Amino acid sequence: MIRITMYNEFYHEQHKPNVKAIYPNGMHAAIKEYLDSEGSFEPMRVCTLDMPECGLTEEVLDNTDVLLWWGHVKHDEVPDEVAERVVRHVKDGMGFIGLHSAHASKPFRTLMGTDSHLLRWRETGDLARIWTVDYAHPITNGLPDYFELEHEETYGEHFDIPQPDDLVFVTWFSGGEIFRSGCTFHRGQGRIFYFQPGHETFPTYYNENVRKVIANGIKWAYNPGRKSIGTGHFRIKPNIESEWAGELQENFTK
Ligand code: ZN
Repeated sequence: MIRITMYNEFYHEQHKPNVKAIYPNGMHAAIKEYLDSEGSFEPMRVCTLDMPECGLTEEVLDNTDVLLWWGHVKHDEVPDEVAERVVRHVKDGMGFIGLHSAHASKPFRTLMGTDSHLLRWRETGDLARIWTVDYAHPITNGLPDYFELEHEETYGEHFDIPQPDDLVFVTWFSGGEIFRSGCTFHRGQGRIFYFQPGHETFPTYYNENVRKVIANGIKWAYNPGRKSIGTGHFRIKPNIESEWAGELQENFTK
């Protein structure tokens, strides 16, 4: 069973009545409700900004296979050392799922190495049509050619991410924008999936297809085969039997 942790800033749900009405126990509760019953995961652990070290201690990350991240207005309050710890764990093989405005979070920005906080956006409740564009990708398992969210925050290009390793979904908004809404990246041994839907004033995390994408993303990002990787100056004894073996060995062991 995959061990998942979700970091949620958990600010809007406690301070904005319109958000609290949709997510009375937090966005994480809506996601947890689904993932805990899906059958592939250990009960999801929840960490929030108001916990010491945002709840993301070394011990918690050591026991996390895939970390989900939702943050929006409090990115700067996540201590640098916590963000650096998350990045280190991702490079060591922990999966990372960046949800919605996590594109501007400290760990995601570091992992991208670009100004990934930069994109176009508009909050007018456009309809979002999320198109599958990579049918071979496991994150699209069980999903239709496209699905719609009646209202979502509009995100538009240009989105300042590096070229994704896989472009899995592209979203069209009724205002006319398009956006690379489902993208994967590899960093070290870590697999990263960014998925755009999830603005706090809409009930996006109750949507059946959105939930399926998140579950598929977690399964894809789970890397059970973490390795100890050798790098740096390297001596080797050549396994060659020839008249040149002595010379080769001399060269290789310098
Ligand atoms: Zn938003």
